[in-house]
Amino acid sequence: MDLTQFVVVAGIVVAVLTFIVWPIFGRAARGRAPGANPADPARIEQRIGEYRSALRRGTACEQCAFPNREGARFCQECGARLPAAGPASA
Ligand SMILES: [Zn+2]
Repeated sequence: MDLTQFVVVAGIVVAVLTFIVWPIFGRAARGRAPGANPADPARIEQRIGEYRSALRRGTACEQCAFPNREGARFCQECGARLPAAGPASA
């Protein structure tokens, strides 16, 4: 076997290994990805907290329940008029 044949065979072996090993490692990496889960309990708690404080401020949207920031007159998400848009109630 001369050098050219060796390089060709080695290249084929590397290519085959890449196509077999890469998908396995790729799948394992995606499965372990931290913080990418939208159902993460800490994230849900944070969103509930945001919604509660928006309810207290009167900036929670009646149409889509988006917790808008204080002083907002219209929903940032859907554009609906907010309950707090009327006369200010401190
Ligand atoms: Zn809305």
